[in-house]
Amino acid sequence: MEKVRRITSFSVDHDFIIPGIYVSRIDGDVTTYDLRTRRPNANDFMDNLTMHSLEHMFATYVRNSEIADDVLYFGPMGCRTGFYLLVRNADNARVLEVVKSVLSKIANEATEMFGAERKECGNYRELSLDSAKAESARYLSELSAREQTFIYPTE
Ligand SMILES: [Zn+2]
Repeated sequence: MEKVRRITSFSVDHDFIIPGIYVSRIDGDVTTYDLRTRRPNANDFMDNLTMHSLEHMFATYVRNSEIADDVLYFGPMGCRTGFYLLVRNADNARVLEVVKSVLSKIANEATEMFGAERKECGNYRELSLDSAKAESARYLSELSAREQTFIYPTE
């Protein structure tokens, strides 16, 4: 049998993770952020409608933000407790400010769902601006509730 290496993100003890923003890994000039919206394994998962809707809104706004040119990827975790954001030449404090600003725009200013046409999405009927707004407001309050260290909790 071929030996399969355990990937880095499985080495983090998920029992200690709380909602926040963490540096998952750094590869050269690319930082992978763990935008953890929900506490893992707490029976508090994003439903797919919420996750998909926030994905559309966040991806669009972050690619229109001041770090637009350095954003490589944004997308949901299959476990439905967060998202990954990949940024080139990242500065943690600046990325946090942009993330908060994007969430605030979604929660308070957005009036239309981006990418909601059949041609633009693989499941265009499963989108809700209200769900994206609610999750953005919720995650923004989690990020603002405590200082973000970007380091996974170990206890
Ligand atoms: Zn879609």
